[in-house]
This record gives sequence, C-alpha cells and structure tokens, in this order.
Amino acid sequence: MTLTIGGRSGQSSPDVPNAPDCQSCGTDQFLIVEEFTPYRLLPGGQRVPATASYSCSRCGSFSGHEVPDSWAPVGWFWYA
Ligand SMILES: [Zn+2]
Repeated sequence: MTLTIGGRSGQSSPDVPNAPDCQSCGTDQFLIVEEFTPYRLLPGGQRVPATASYSCSRCGSFSGHEVPDSWAPVGWFWYA
C-alpha cells in the first residue's frame, strides 16, 4: 500500500501534482475514484488544491493526493 502525503514526489514539476495513476499497474485504466474535491478559492483568496483518493480495481492499491486543476474523474461534472 502506498499513500503519499502531500502528493509531491519530486519526480515532476514541483508546482503541478500528478494525476491519479496506479504506480503498480502504470495506468489509470483500473482506478476507482473514492473521493474527489475540486480545487476552490477561499473568501480570502487562498487557493485550496484539488484532491482525489482512489483505489485500483486491478491490484487493490490505494492512494490519495493533490491532483491537477484540470483533472476530474471520468464522468464527473459539476452539479452547480
Ligand atoms: Zn493497480
């Protein structure tokens, strides 16, 4: 089981978190998104990054971390 706190592995651009991906399978094809919170701005202007937690239906691994602003689970959309 791998759970990355903060989601910053240092392997990519330091300001852009990685999109969800199964480290074991090397693909996002089998991911089941358990929880997703889109990024938002607080009244004071502070930016709260998007986060997602997910498990892999193929190997069973679980992870959760910040995700890019542009990322959203497949089929997910705003009910605004
Ligand atoms: Zn997997």
